[in-house]
Amino acid sequence: MAKLKIVKFGDPMLRKVSRPVTEITPRILTLLDDMVETMREAGGCGLAAVQVGVLRRIVVIEVEDGNVIELINPKIIAFSGEQNEQEGCLSNPGEYGITKRPKAVTVRATDRHGEEFELSGTDLLARAICHECDHLDGKLYIDVQIKKLTD
Ligand code: ZN
Repeated sequence: MAKLKIVKFGDPMLRKVSRPVTEITPRILTLLDDMVETMREAGGCGLAAVQVGVLRRIVVIEVEDGNVIELINPKIIAFSGEQNEQEGCLSNPGEYGITKRPKAVTVRATDRHGEEFELSGTDLLARAICHECDHLDGKLYIDVQIKKLTD
């Protein structure tokens, strides 16, 4: 596995729309592994492929240590409620804001074996799913930020 370089806010790459994965190749599997390593080394709980310079619809999330969620071509199919909580981004280290997000979401995605599955999450997991799926459409948390936090 390899640690990848994380693209930072201000780079136009982060505003691009990622393309769907049409075939799960060994390269995609390596990318998933490298993304998990990169996310962990950076101390984050989510990472989208665009953040390591790959415009593919791939996300990794780990809000619970040891429970890695890999989402290929994720699509949020249901959401409910509302939460206004603190959020940051590995592409914007050291800065945080309060964002408005759904309290609960359900996402449909493909796993590394090519199987489609659905996952529901609330609170932090819901925020992470929304945050990472937004990255795939070139959206950033500052777009839904209702208050910037300063030290
Ligand atoms: Zn982010």
